[in-house]
Amino acid sequence: MSRQKRILITGGAGFLGSHLCDYFSEAGYYVIAMDNLVTGSVDNIAHLFSEVNFDFYEQDVSKYVHVAGDLDVILHFASPASPIDYLEMPIQTLKVGSLGTHNLLGLARAKGARFMIASTSEIYGDPLVHPQTEEYWGNVNPIGPRGVYDEAKRFQESMTMAYHKVHKIDCRIARIFNTYGPRMRVKDGRALPSFLAQALLGESLTIYGNGEQTRSFCYVDDLIRGVVRLLEVPYNLPINLGNPDEITIIELARKIRSLSPNSSSDIVHLPLPEDDPQRRRPDISKANEILNWWPRIGLDEGLQYTLSYFRDKIFM
Ligand code: UDP
Repeated sequence: MSRQKRILITGGAGFLGSHLCDYFSEAGYYVIAMDNLVTGSVDNIAHLFSEVNFDFYEQDVSKYVHVAGDLDVILHFASPASPIDYLEMPIQTLKVGSLGTHNLLGLARAKGARFMIASTSEIYGDPLVHPQTEEYWGNVNPIGPRGVYDEAKRFQESMTMAYHKVHKIDCRIARIFNTYGPRMRVKDGRALPSFLAQALLGESLTIYGNGEQTRSFCYVDDLIRGVVRLLEVPYNLPINLGNPDEITIIELARKIRSLSPNSSSDIVHLPLPEDDPQRRRPDISKANEILNWWPRIGLDEGLQYTLSYFRDKIFM
């Protein structure tokens, strides 16, 4: 009988990380979730604690990482990902993307593991090319408030490619666009979870700026399928994963309010944060061709699932 596959998932108690823990547990892997719990929560993985093939290490990956035994795959998904979090924790954000990535690449090298990073559409900054293709180099202000996240992720891609070239690490670089779904935090601070919570609580929906800026939202199950598919395919260059269905933030707010028909929420406009990207939509031709992947769950359907999770979180 062949040996059970072992996977390390950093950020394993976070939004995407915990869904990945679920997927790989069900797929029969031995799963090690690693998280320092600054934005993640053990609530997201509590249901896995009784599994014999699951382990949790509370650890900051920007410090030396030790894992005993074999590892076949490392998914580096640890990082604050909401602008309010990386504004509050600029140095930790830089460290987890840079020092953390270096440590985990060293671990991948020592174990001969396949290595995936959760990169981001933020590496395109406030894009001057629309929609964003993988060939676009981006428009990032390195010293702006978002620079700590954007530059850490750009460094992370650079470091990963260097290890691929020099040490032949079998890498995967997923450029993840806005993703949403159950296990986002009620107080996450990003637009979609904020609007859901505000609509449910009858509070004003807070639009930054005039709301004409756009984003494209991918439901978490679609994204996880994309990540899994990318791991299977021998493709080492960056690849966009996201839903190309673009919507303005004001339309998103109205849609979310209409899904909560009893909501007494109104819409208020607050100042637009510095360097806020004006438009964002992934070109997913590469993911279509190389991974045979595209999202299946539309915004209305995904919002229903997420709303129901938020309702339980807030009222139960
Ligand atoms: N935004 C908003 N109200 C909020 C939070 C965010 O209007 O309560 C805006 C934000 O300025 C940005 C867009 O919504 O233009 C998406 O922001 P989010 O924080 O979700 O993620 P981003 O895509 O900017 O990383």
